[in-house]
Amino acid sequence: MDAGLYIHIPFCVKKCSYCDFYSITDGSLYPAFVEALKSEMRMTRDSNLTFDTLYMGGGTPSVLDAETIGNIIETARQSYEILPHAEITLEVNPGTVGLKQFEEYRCSGINRINIGVQSFDPVRLRFLGRIHSGDDAQAAISRAQKAGFENLGLDLIYGIPNQTKTSWLKDLKLAIEFEPRHLSCYMLSFEPGTPLYIDLQEDRLRPLAEPQVCELFETTLEFLSDHGYVQYEISNFARESMTRSGLKGADRNRSRHNMKYWNFAPYIGLGPSAHSFLEPKRYWNCADVKKYIQDLDAGRLPRSGVERLGMEQLMIEAIYLGLRQTQGILIDGFDKKFGVTFRTRFKDTLDMLEAKGLIGLFQNRCALTSKGMLYLDSIAAMFI
Ligand code: SF4
Repeated sequence: MDAGLYIHIPFCVKKCSYCDFYSITDGSLYPAFVEALKSEMRMTRDSNLTFDTLYMGGGTPSVLDAETIGNIIETARQSYEILPHAEITLEVNPGTVGLKQFEEYRCSGINRINIGVQSFDPVRLRFLGRIHSGDDAQAAISRAQKAGFENLGLDLIYGIPNQTKTSWLKDLKLAIEFEPRHLSCYMLSFEPGTPLYIDLQEDRLRPLAEPQVCELFETTLEFLSDHGYVQYEISNFARESMTRSGLKGADRNRSRHNMKYWNFAPYIGLGPSAHSFLEPKRYWNCADVKKYIQDLDAGRLPRSGVERLGMEQLMIEAIYLGLRQTQGILIDGFDKKFGVTFRTRFKDTLDMLEAKGLIGLFQNRCALTSKGMLYLDSIAAMFI
């Protein structure tokens, strides 16, 4: 199975109020970071794996100019076997990129753009602490398309305090007017350590009530399905489009890279805080740009942890990752991989979840129902 390469660019213009991804706002470290990143690639050179995806996320990779991005891709190609047809994605923050920069990104080897729109609504954008307006987001999408990026994904967030079904539908409608191939619709979460989490703890904000959040989730599924977007993971939707042979298909519009995480494929993560998985081993880098640079300057890999997953852990992980996807857990594959009989081993849990309408059991699949998708974490925990 081909592997995925993830590169974490740990810089943002400003931190958003809800975000717990590792990033800093000190742009003076860009050059030293890029040199360190290139050293990390050369030190972890790997000729045993072939890569069919490269994903530059963060942080805000689009704070780096196209020449730097091109340079990083070139060093990645020298260090790893990146296949000619690889999906090469760059995450873009709408407040950071003009038309010329999109055109240059395209020349640098990027063939897929994912834009963090989050919302087009000024009130929601202010609440989330985004640096851009709704108009900026629309302009960024148009520019990316004008620059020739056909493979375009947009990220949106819902479940924001005071958000109504009408205002969420407005965001969804505007998003699909651009006909992106891919949409990620994330439910707002309050992650420990973020400003939003602190506001919540200190009673400065009231989250949207659970029934309303559920309604927005159901609205998302219904609206996107009515408009030709196929849900393939809890938060991810691919546009159904005609293939050359005239068949309808949404598969080719999925995020090939993110599928690696959900399907137990090997992936290597580079940059501060990035995680790697080479079954059964998982390891990760320190979440500190300065330490990352110092380590690599001194010829050391910037690792901060490693774990070897035992069979039980791998099994739980396979359940969690399988349930995230609409196809669910493929039972015969699971039985073969772990030498168990899924239906027997988890019979009581499966019976209970099925009776509550939270999962569906089919001939060879076990998948969450749309109601079950709202409770993924607690359902996965029931299998432990
Ligand atoms: S959401 Fe994106 S732009 Fe905002 S702080 Fe997080 S990584 Fe940076």
